[in-house]
Amino acid sequence: MYGSYINWGHINNQCRRDSQRRLDKRMEELNRVEHYADSIDKTFIYKRKTKGWEPFTCPCGSSKQLSPSTKRKEFRCSQCGRKIIIEE
Ligand SMILES: [Zn+2]
Repeated sequence: MYGSYINWGHINNQCRRDSQRRLDKRMEELNRVEHYADSIDKTFIYKRKTKGWEPFTCPCGSSKQLSPSTKRKEFRCSQCGRKIIIEE
């Protein structure tokens, strides 16, 4: 039957491209996980200057806001996973 000709070569190329893309994505994820694990060891110590609301920036660039009622002396940055210690 005419019209049902399949270009296998084309399909194979498509498959190769897709699996290469999947591999790239996987490597990207692995790199991200390593990066995350890396930053967990690093601790950022922030000295509180006031008793009120106080904005500060994590070394990863993520902005944080300390509330006047923050009692927790340490937490983790939700973006980089770094431990942040608040000193008063
Ligand atoms: Zn951070």
